[in-house]
Amino acid sequence: MPFEKEKEVAIAAALHAATICEQVRQTMVPEAIEKKDKSPVTVADFGAQAVVCKALAEAFPDDPVVGEEDAGELKTPEMAARLQQVSDYVKQVIPAATPEAVTRWIDHGNGKVASRYWTLDPIDGTKGFLRKDQYAVALAMVADGDIQVGVLACPALTLTLKEGPATGILFVAVRGEGATMQAIHGGSPEPIRVTSSSDTAHFRFVESVEAGHGDQSLQSAIAQAAGITTDSMRMDSQAKYGAVASGNAVLYLRLPSPKYPGYREKIWDHAAGVIVVEEAGGRVTDMYGQPLDFSKSDRLETTGVVVSNGEIHDQVLAALIDQE
Ligand code: AMP
Ligand code: MG
Repeated sequence: MPFEKEKEVAIAAALHAATICEQVRQTMVPEAIEKKDKSPVTVADFGAQAVVCKALAEAFPDDPVVGEEDAGELKTPEMAARLQQVSDYVKQVIPAATPEAVTRWIDHGNGKVASRYWTLDPIDGTKGFLRKDQYAVALAMVADGDIQVGVLACPALTLTLKEGPATGILFVAVRGEGATMQAIHGGSPEPIRVTSSSDTAHFRFVESVEAGHGDQSLQSAIAQAAGITTDSMRMDSQAKYGAVASGNAVLYLRLPSPKYPGYREKIWDHAAGVIVVEEAGGRVTDMYGQPLDFSKSDRLETTGVVVSNGEIHDQVLAALIDQE
């Protein structure tokens, strides 16, 4: 099997990271969540990046990791107590963790896009994490310009699996091998497929909770033009990709916010989700039908993101042209 080791290492790392995030969400005092410095998200972000980077550095020492976080701020004297706190959470999954080792692991995530690299969002959907809504640990490996492995841990997502409903879902995809989902808290992987547009119960679309991360009025107009008449499901993080890949929605629209016209999407906000949807039989392009290019830098050069079951993709792209 290609990339078997990459898949196993990525799954174990993402599950460790998810454990830390859930621990932080459950144990840090609610008052802190209101604080301006967003302490819980800081602690969980850094902790999650540390454990994933440590695992990747040991298993694949030559692979750069392009992660969202950087330990610079955490190494300042004012942050010593915060760093200790991160280290204490990391210790729960890696007993040998020390503050010094934790900053070293986090900074392993300062790598650059190369012919083969990993990209990591330790907490995708930080606003959802703080609201106790959806968030994801998103990790992907890109080689020769294409995403080869993607793992998306969604600790707060509830979906119905063959064994019954479960909260905490792990999506996994390897190029050419299909996509699966499984319960984070024990369970076996089951193959997933996007759903057909004739599945009326799931003929609906997903978009961000955060209005500033998209164009909600255009998104509903485009969904309507594609025949979707129900309201959107709003969800934080790449859990939206999981919703399409598992057949719980047929479309995810992320069109540029009129408030931030020049915004360029970050690779770690998409890479894992894209391969999960593609391997589940769906399609992902920018708003003009161009593929997303993960081979250049940590930002995509394209505009907007359209994720679908494939069947309605061309209709959605045509509706976008008509709106111009
Ligand atoms: P979501 O949970 O889908 O709304 O996406 C969360 C991600 O949106 C964060 O990780 C940010 O990197 C990203 N983000 C921040 N500002 C914008 C923006 N103006 N447009 C699109 N995405 C953004
Ligand atoms: Mg993110």
